[in-house]
Amino acid sequence: MVIFGLRSTTIASLNSQLQCRHCHTNESVWLYIYRHYFHIFWIPAFPLWKSAASQCTHCKQVLTNNEFDDELKQAKTEAVKIAKTPIWTFSWLLVGAAIVALLTISSLLNS
Ligand SMILES: [Zn+2]
Repeated sequence: MVIFGLRSTTIASLNSQLQCRHCHTNESVWLYIYRHYFHIFWIPAFPLWKSAASQCTHCKQVLTNNEFDDELKQAKTEAVKIAKTPIWTFSWLLVGAAIVALLTISSLLNS
């Protein structure tokens, strides 16, 4: 039995400096960027898409990608550019590449 699926991790969080459109408090909206990844036995295999959500620190309203207004979409675009994908989300790929490299070197040395 192989356990696999999708998970996500927060790769960036920043104050968007925007006004909350629900409670109209200034500079209270935080933007969170997530990287989704495929896992096998809870060990990350490879990264997939990025997504975003915002939360107001005052009224706690949470908005997701498709609920963003133009200002939040712009802030998200800029945040996604600077948010880096953690190397550990490539764990299975890195282990697989290392095994292939070792097998190749081993076969070259034995021939
Ligand atoms: Zn608010």
